[in-house]
Amino acid sequence: MDLNFLMPVQVMAGPDSVSRGSHLLREMGRRCLIVTGRSSAKACGALADVTAALDREGIVWDVFDKVGQNPLLSTCVEGGRAAAAFGADFLVGIGGGSPLDATKAIAAFATNDMEPMGIYEPRKVPPLPFALVGTTSGTGSEVTRYSVLTVDETGRKRSWGDRGSYARVAFGDARYTLSLNRSFTISTALDALAHAVEGYFNKTADPISDSFALLAMELLVPALRELKELPQQDFAPSLELRERLYAASIYGGLTINTTGTAFCHQMGYTLTEDHGVPHGQACAVFLPDYIRNGTLTCPEKAQRLFTRLNLFAGPFCQLVEDLLDARWPDYSPQQVEELLVRWQGSKNMEKTPGTFDAARQREVALRVLAHR
Ligand code: NAP
Ligand code: ZN
Repeated sequence: MDLNFLMPVQVMAGPDSVSRGSHLLREMGRRCLIVTGRSSAKACGALADVTAALDREGIVWDVFDKVGQNPLLSTCVEGGRAAAAFGADFLVGIGGGSPLDATKAIAAFATNDMEPMGIYEPRKVPPLPFALVGTTSGTGSEVTRYSVLTVDETGRKRSWGDRGSYARVAFGDARYTLSLNRSFTISTALDALAHAVEGYFNKTADPISDSFALLAMELLVPALRELKELPQQDFAPSLELRERLYAASIYGGLTINTTGTAFCHQMGYTLTEDHGVPHGQACAVFLPDYIRNGTLTCPEKAQRLFTRLNLFAGPFCQLVEDLLDARWPDYSPQQVEELLVRWQGSKNMEKTPGTFDAARQREVALRVLAHR
């Protein structure tokens, strides 16, 4: 047996989980800073549920609502100062991956007086404890140690994560995702699929990560077909479908918490950095190539997957293609060469099974980025 499994997050999922688990907040302290994006935490009802739970437990709270998409490192520094000034004992992050990832960094900045780039180094003081409440069904950030931040000076996304960047508790209530529009519903579902597929065909996969990846894919394949068939106008997936999507995102997160991601995420970051393509769409445009690479490099494992999903590689790739709507100006061959330099030393590339050297990276990048 070859395992290295750590999952210290208590996951409380289901209707009213915030209310049912309010005693878990009390255990973290008497003063709480809530971290959110600009508006969705309020709009989806999660903020009201969290503040009601805090009020019931007699916890004093304030809100830091400045986290944007692909959160800036400087916003996390500012959030850390706000938490320290408020005297926060703990944080509650509410949102999609952006506010949840920012919460992990704010917890570290609140207790460590350090330069922004210090987040990427080992730190002396443990972070504040924090709880996370997901409002999208994609990143699985609730259960991972990863925090993906945008470095202000370079505009590049860079992730960090360590034993201190796990939530104490993750509350999962799919009702909060009912307000997600079609575009973000599909993009975040594709992100969850990318986590499962990149984790399944990954050099670091093990039997536990495979189990979570399979659970996620078994939920996502029919769910994506259903999303595709729903009317674009008046798009309104049922709560039951939302619950399956949310569960899949947690299983996807549990997968990558062991394996990390692979080339789809590395290349996808580039599309987000350069052209603002939403994270899930940006990663998923590379998924068909990744599935084909997995089929060639891990044929037995691929066969087991396709048998279990009752879906072969071609239709699997087609399902993804049918849901892609990302657009960007074609990269020139010269720009692709520059990307190869940018990707040098990427751990995600190295986790891709088989040989994924510069020649293979060029091949995929030219096909996907230069000729759409
Ligand atoms: P997001 O960037 O958190 O949010 C995207 C948009 O959706 C925002 O406009 C947000 O509004 C809105 N939104 C969120 N929840 C909503 C709801 N329930 N109803 C209506 N609108 C809602 O999206 P995301 O895809 O979840 O997160 C992407 C980020 O996560 C990227 O930075 C990515 O790199 C990172 N990521 C992290 C991990 C990890 O393991 N930590 C894994 C994958 C990706 P507001 O701005 O108002 O909140
Ligand atoms: Zn992702």
